Amino acid sequence: MTAYEGPTDLFINGAWRAGADGRRFPVLDPATGKLLASFAAAALEDCEAAVDAAGDAFPSWSATPPRERSELLRRVFELMTAEAETLAAIIVAENGKAWPDAIVEAKYSAEFFRWFAEEAVRIPGEYRGSPSGDKRIVVTHQSIGVSLLITPWNFPAAMAARKIAPALAAGCTVVLKPASETPLTAAFIVELLNRARVPAGVVNLVTPKPVGPAVESMLADARVRKLSFTGSTEVGRQLLASSARRVVSTSMELGGNAPLVVLPGADLDVAIAGTVDAKMRNGGSACTAANRIYVHASLHEEFLARLTDRFLAFTLGPGSTRSNTLGALVSQRERDKVAELVETAVGEGATIVLGGADESSGCFYPATILKGVAHGSTINSTEIFGPVAAIVRYDDVEDALLMANDSEFGLSAYVFGPEGDAVRFAFRLQSGMVGVNRGVISDPAAPFGGVKQSGLGREGGFEGILEFLETQYLSLPA
Ligand code: ADP
Repeated sequence: MTAYEGPTDLFINGAWRAGADGRRFPVLDPATGKLLASFAAAALEDCEAAVDAAGDAFPSWSATPPRERSELLRRVFELMTAEAETLAAIIVAENGKAWPDAIVEAKYSAEFFRWFAEEAVRIPGEYRGSPSGDKRIVVTHQSIGVSLLITPWNFPAAMAARKIAPALAAGCTVVLKPASETPLTAAFIVELLNRARVPAGVVNLVTPKPVGPAVESMLADARVRKLSFTGSTEVGRQLLASSARRVVSTSMELGGNAPLVVLPGADLDVAIAGTVDAKMRNGGSACTAANRIYVHASLHEEFLARLTDRFLAFTLGPGSTRSNTLGALVSQRERDKVAELVETAVGEGATIVLGGADESSGCFYPATILKGVAHGSTINSTEIFGPVAAIVRYDDVEDALLMANDSEFGLSAYVFGPEGDAVRFAFRLQSGMVGVNRGVISDPAAPFGGVKQSGLGREGGFEGILEFLETQYLSLPA
């Protein structure tokens, strides 16, 4: 991108505006370290104004015919599809990811608007008889209310789309708080919503500095009825505790530590292609990324050799060069975390097969393969969030199952093997999502979410809209 020309302000009640106290913060291009933009920092009073606007807009938006809400979302889908290249360029600029990952994300984000445009007119309800025959039971779903949406930097467009689209489809009004590393993508999406003629107050964007107290004060506001958060388990736990004070409904997409298991008899063409997808999509910065790769001893050597060939084909460099397939990490801090994990792994007995060496500069880290990783070692039990494949060799399938389930997380998992074996294994995995002989599982039509400490609730699918609806039951005379 030559120069960023999109909005750099807060969006409150249908208008772009600077923060009340005029503060701004820098948004950097991690590939070059250069300043992309100076973004408005929201003060507490801006966050309050955003909640005011969302609260005021809620009665009329929730009463807007579903068909109209659907058509608005459909216009956003069309605008976002037409602007996919611009959106991808903004994602690349502030997040650092490779162009192929960014363009896939831009199109995937648009699909959430299409999917929830279709869901807006299919909000379910139900009639039941009562077993005693004394009443009729009518079940309806109603918009929950003002929703606070907090998103991370790794998929700055998709995570915002996956929350805004179902919230609006359900008749909720929203305050979006993107990660401070990636506010430009969020601002561009809000600009598309604005162009699609979203009514004032239905969508608001705030970027508070500091974030903690601002989110606390919004959660303390009686009008905020929903928190949908994607981010780290650590922050998620804090926000769950804060939400408890007013019993705010929460949807939480938290950390993962996805196991990928290659069973005896697996087709290595499929397993290698799937492992490359599951590990390297988004440069490894995905909560669904394969973090622990367990390969059966019978396939281990060939798996390593073939994975190494595939990793060697990655070209590391700025996403602005569209042919590069591995971009920068979002920040020096994130890059250093990955480097430290690899160093620790080596200290704990792993061997570097490829990459690892610190010949790259800035926020870049090379495609790396480690073998001889021990189950339970630091890298095996920490979310890597970078392009590092950490491989554990195993002998016994039952052990592989125990190791795969030996985690406080349970977001996604992958299994490769003869289909019957792989499906049977998948059913026994403690994981909200399992890719069976596939390395990519995300789909707007599928329920995305985790078990254990990976989160609460589901996004996408038929389930996604329900997170923004409350059930009301009417008891009628028989
Ligand atoms: P990551 O490790 O992906 O950066 P975080 O959980 O730190 O994950 O960030 C995810 C989102 O949560 C971002 O929008 C970030 O600004 C926000 N966030 C971070 N700390 C807090 C906090 N104390 N209260 C509310 N939101 C927070």
